[in-house]
Amino acid sequence: MSNNSEKTKCLIIGSGPAGYTAAIYAARADLKPILYEGLQPGGQLTTTTEIDNFPGYPKGIEGTTMMEDLKKQAQRFETDVRFGIVTDVDFSERPFKVKADDGKEIIAESVIIATGASARWLGMESENAYRGYGVSACATCDGFFYKGRDVAIVGGGDTAAEEATYLAKLCKKVYLIHRRDALRASKAMQKKVLDTPNIEIFWDHIPKEITGKEAGFSKEVTGVILENVKTKKETKIDIEGFFVAIGHSPNSQVFKGQVEMADTGYIKTAPDSTKTSVEGVYACGDIQDHVYRQAITAAGSGCMAAIEAERFLAS
Ligand code: FAD
Ligand code: NAP
Repeated sequence: MSNNSEKTKCLIIGSGPAGYTAAIYAARADLKPILYEGLQPGGQLTTTTEIDNFPGYPKGIEGTTMMEDLKKQAQRFETDVRFGIVTDVDFSERPFKVKADDGKEIIAESVIIATGASARWLGMESENAYRGYGVSACATCDGFFYKGRDVAIVGGGDTAAEEATYLAKLCKKVYLIHRRDALRASKAMQKKVLDTPNIEIFWDHIPKEITGKEAGFSKEVTGVILENVKTKKETKIDIEGFFVAIGHSPNSQVFKGQVEMADTGYIKTAPDSTKTSVEGVYACGDIQDHVYRQAITAAGSGCMAAIEAERFLAS
């Protein structure tokens, strides 16, 4: 073992609701877990405002506050939380070998994967060109910059609906662009969107190109060209901010070839379990759940993963 190697009974990768719940359970079971937070400490909920559907908060709670509380709860039971990204794993034999970008090699008797998901992009060249200069995948992070202005948001799910209503409170006008004629969002979120007077929906439309101009050393978005998918008619709207909310992809690249995955990149787990194809390696939360993708289901499966790891280590 080199100086940079450390042994642990339980390594947890990811700091969303799944990772921190797994940490609370693993730490209370005296597994002394090490947890790597990754690039987004606190996970996806740190990109939203109010969480209204997590049990126990009758008045709702800010996403960042809830994740800070989960972290504190995990640390209270002595989870070793580290800022760092897991870059390489070797699950070919036990104990497993995992490398992180802090230079450490963790020799782990069990591993809990809770790496969640990241925002998807449309893939347009102009989207890439203006990313960070008017194009964003996080309205709650960047909406503030467009106070009093006109913006567009693409998507028809809960995220797009929630972010459109959030933007509507800040911006003059919000164009919601959706490729179908019905929203995928929950009925409650749909109602919020439809009841907000400064949200205008472009049904059956997709963005074709984001337009913009150079402004000194910077650049800015000036509009977007939309196409009606049924009539092929193009419409140009003037906007200064363009938000993408078309879902998320699982953060599973680093585990490719190590555990079984679906073609979509979601890690496969055994029915009613968080067991992966490798004994001693568990997956919980959005990384293995393409159906529910909720904070409470992620937390629930984090609990399952820690209990399964504990029983495996005791057997
Ligand atoms: P995530 O929250 O995605 O966390 C993944 C973690 O893994 C992150 O900490 C990341 O840094 C880490 N990670 C990734 N790769 C690595 C690596 N290589 N090494 C180390 N760490 C890594 N759900 C609700 O129930 N209610 C809501 O109101 C709600 N609002 C939402 C609003 C928005 C804008 C979004 C995007 C989602 C919302 N959701 C909501 C869904 C909810 O956020 C997710 O279901 C939940 O966060 C999934 O938790 P998770 O722990 O599986 O993963
Ligand atoms: P989602 O439910 O997968 O919705 C993605 C939306 O983007 C869909 O409407 C989809 O269109 C559209 N889309 C996908 N690819 C596209 C493309 N290339 N071009 C144009 N449009 C595209 O993702 P999400 O809204 O991020 O939600 C993810 C999960 O988190 C869900 O389970 C959701 O319930 C949960 N969530 C919950 C809350 C809450 O409870 N308050 C808030 C946010 C998220 P189609 O409809 O045509 O497929």
